[in-house]
Amino acid sequence: MSPVNGGATRDRLRIAIQKSGRLSEPARALLASCGLSWRESRDKLFCYGETLPVDLLLVRDDDIPGLLADGVCDYGIVGRNVLEEQAADRALRGLPAVSKEVRPLGFGGCRLDIAIPEAQAWDGPQQLQGTRIATSYPGLLQRWLDVEGVQATIVNLSGSVEIAPRLGQADVICDLVSSGATLTANQLKPAVTLLRSEAVLAGPMRAFTDARGELAALLLRRLDGVLRLRDSRLLMFQSSRAGVPALLKLLPDAEPPTLLQVDGAETVALQVLCHGEMTWQRLEDLKHAGAAGLMVLPVERMLA
Ligand code: ATP
Ligand code: ZN
Repeated sequence: MSPVNGGATRDRLRIAIQKSGRLSEPARALLASCGLSWRESRDKLFCYGETLPVDLLLVRDDDIPGLLADGVCDYGIVGRNVLEEQAADRALRGLPAVSKEVRPLGFGGCRLDIAIPEAQAWDGPQQLQGTRIATSYPGLLQRWLDVEGVQATIVNLSGSVEIAPRLGQADVICDLVSSGATLTANQLKPAVTLLRSEAVLAGPMRAFTDARGELAALLLRRLDGVLRLRDSRLLMFQSSRAGVPALLKLLPDAEPPTLLQVDGAETVALQVLCHGEMTWQRLEDLKHAGAAGLMVLPVERMLA
């Protein structure tokens, strides 16, 4: 096998994903839907790519930015919160960025919020002046405090941030929130959002100059195909030829349609690939506008 260090030429791509946690299953499923498959090593930390020379490294999510920075991995699937925390931390230390967000992936959605005790009113960032804020995101919090011109003490905790106010370690917290149930259970409420996060594909600042370049391009092409098709449906219906323009106006998210003549010159059948969600309401609107025999089909694969 070729050397591990970043500067060396490599002919396989290495992607770091979370070993176990919220992002591990969806990350693997997404890569599998790009046609990748792997042979797992016995320790289940390294998965050797079989269909393509794209290997997986299964790690803690917090280690992913560092593995990218060191060039041990070429790409990583990680929460934007983790990637941005590394970027904020490096920026505060005067260091340049080492990796960037290549694609948002549409799962693992959450927010980095400041949450305050339920009984308190929220009058804006200045209210935090002189307080102690518990967080696992000191870089992002410091950056936000600097922008807002607020001086506060950051209490850096690696876990159980939400109980810090009750334990008297801090006055408020800055933590990830998705449903808000954890906050409620700890008598806290969200006050302000610092970052909207989801899982992202993180990659290098510069393009590869070796065999990885072509592999990366192939992977991104497939990934874009999969991401684009996620909400896409093939819509089929019939209408009068004269009615087609009005119907297409109702489908602003559609690709150019395929028209087939059905019944003399009058009736046509249409096949339209639509990228937005195909709700009942949209189907009813189409029916009102003259569409008949409406059918919505899932799209499994597409190569433009
Ligand atoms: P690891 O063992 O890999 O360090 P972890 O406990 O840090 O795991 P998870 O709790 O699995 O990580 O969260 C991984 C990512 O999932 C987060 O960084 C975030 O991007 C995303 N996420 C989505 N919703 C939430 C949530 N409610 N709380 C925490 N993270 C969330
Ligand atoms: Zn973690």
